[in-house]
Amino acid sequence: MGKNMFKRIILLCLLISMIFSLAACREKEETKYSSGKYEGVGNGLHGEIKVEVEVKDGIITNINVLEQGENAVLGKSAFEGISAAVIKKNSTDVDIVTGATYSSKGMIEAINNALKTGKVNLASKELTGEAEQKVEIKDAEYDVVVIGAGGAGLCAAIEAKTNGAENVVLVEKMPYAGGNTLLSYAELACAGNWLQKEKGIEDSNEKFAQEMWEGGGKLARKEMVDTVVNNALDGALWLRDTIGVKYQDYLVHEGGHSVPRAVEPVELGPGMVAPLVAKAEELNVQIFYNTKAEELVVNDAGRVVGVKVSSGEKTAVFTANNGVVLATGGFGANVEMREKYNIRWETLDESVQTTNSPAIVGDGIVMAEKIGAQLEGMEHIQLYPFNNPMTGVFYGIEAPSWSGEGIIYVNEDGKRFVNEVAMRDVRAEAILAQKGPVYAIYNQEVADRLQLEEKFANEYAQCLEGGVFYKADTLEEIAKYFNINAENLVKTMDDYNKYMTDGVDPEFGRTTSMVPMNGGPWFILKGVVSVHHTMGGVMIDTDAHVINTDGKIIEGLYAAGEVTGSVHGNNRVGTCAITDITVFGRIAGTNAALGK
Ligand code: ADP
Repeated sequence: MGKNMFKRIILLCLLISMIFSLAACREKEETKYSSGKYEGVGNGLHGEIKVEVEVKDGIITNINVLEQGENAVLGKSAFEGISAAVIKKNSTDVDIVTGATYSSKGMIEAINNALKTGKVNLASKELTGEAEQKVEIKDAEYDVVVIGAGGAGLCAAIEAKTNGAENVVLVEKMPYAGGNTLLSYAELACAGNWLQKEKGIEDSNEKFAQEMWEGGGKLARKEMVDTVVNNALDGALWLRDTIGVKYQDYLVHEGGHSVPRAVEPVELGPGMVAPLVAKAEELNVQIFYNTKAEELVVNDAGRVVGVKVSSGEKTAVFTANNGVVLATGGFGANVEMREKYNIRWETLDESVQTTNSPAIVGDGIVMAEKIGAQLEGMEHIQLYPFNNPMTGVFYGIEAPSWSGEGIIYVNEDGKRFVNEVAMRDVRAEAILAQKGPVYAIYNQEVADRLQLEEKFANEYAQCLEGGVFYKADTLEEIAKYFNINAENLVKTMDDYNKYMTDGVDPEFGRTTSMVPMNGGPWFILKGVVSVHHTMGGVMIDTDAHVINTDGKIIEGLYAAGEVTGSVHGNNRVGTCAITDITVFGRIAGTNAALGK
């Protein structure tokens, strides 16, 4: 063998061994990247969602949420729904959970980022061929069937069970409970409550009832208002002591109330809904999620005897021996219905956003009308005056307007245009009349007293990024950021401070929350009106019986909450909805159980 030939053989051997070792390396790398635990972050509605994704041989086996600040119930539903779908499909190409869009998107983003960090190649996983996991519904007999697991429905189901109904079922079309109640701050107005006593605030049911009725344009039936008001405190104590809702040690003072009168759950909407669900489960109330009520079943005598329900492709009839409770909420998210009934506002088409859950589309109203129920007040649709233009949903960081604090609203001219703590309809009307952008302004002292920067750090950050919030040392700077007339704004603030100090607001007649704001830094938010509450719905009496178009009771059918139209006249006073749904939910559930 010549010297050259020997060299060539050595070189060839080296090359072959290099190729093998490279291949081995790659194999090693692939093995390394297809198994392990990886962390990733995504943006939810209330800040970052951090997850840990566990992968074995290219298959996602587990997803843990490590950090998040989402709505307790909605977030949970999104995390569970997305995790289950991703694991089942071994892919992040999955549908978002209805009604929890931002939490779902944030969750998917976080999982994708975790997979990216780990350079994970996912194996394509054959679907197991198992049937989609769906609720098994079949024809069944119950004592009481409650439609809608929002605030009213949960209260009704619990009281039905407590008052002797053995088999109580809740039918909920979404994958989670709560409806609009979950998205609300769940503040409940009640006169003579424990906090008013502690703080020495004089109040009475008579005063409360008069203000709630006048706030609704004196159009509600007064006996309905009285029923809500007279049972309000009992409802709040029941939520606190029997259900376990934890309340703050301060009172909320919304426009339309002459005194601070509402209690607020520590965890807002989720702080009310989660303990209600827990109590319902503890009492063995069966909750069928992803199950939609389609029709009320009526017998030959005109009595409601059950509900036709559907889940996916399946349908079934749930027979109700004692009664059916309709608690499906209003129709704020149904643009067609809004347009059909609206007479007050220039338009309520899709250009106007809503604070509502997408589930709130008037199903119960339509079902009840079909079997002869009387509707009332359908034309009265409430706009929430000041919301985040990015989402259409109210700001947590606008809290000064309902906390008895300093705040002003201005237009692009830098001028005030309304009493900022007036009732919602007054403020909404004034905002729409500006025909242009409007802004809310408060100062550091106000933010500090309410601990807004601690409580809503994520919201401030997101709103800053979205260009709807700004904070600066001087009024001139915040005016410049939003192109507002700075000279006028400075004068507006001087005038406001003078009015608040004097205790008289000659321009807009503000008489409560008389708090001056001397000096920056200043906070400014941009706002839009959104559809919030539909005052109209099915007519009920004080026993929560549904009334037909002949003015007679429809036997076997009860209703409570926003689906009803008899309580709030043409304007629901802030913090009175939770009082209504709690009081009438309890009455409807009790009477349905007793067949009363
Ligand atoms: P309220 O404040 O009156 O209790 P919510 O908006 O809190 O009303 O709750 C209404 C609930 O009813 C929501 O959870 C919603 O998903 C549910 N719902 C609405 N329509 C139907 C339907 N057709 N079948 C089952 N559940 C429904």
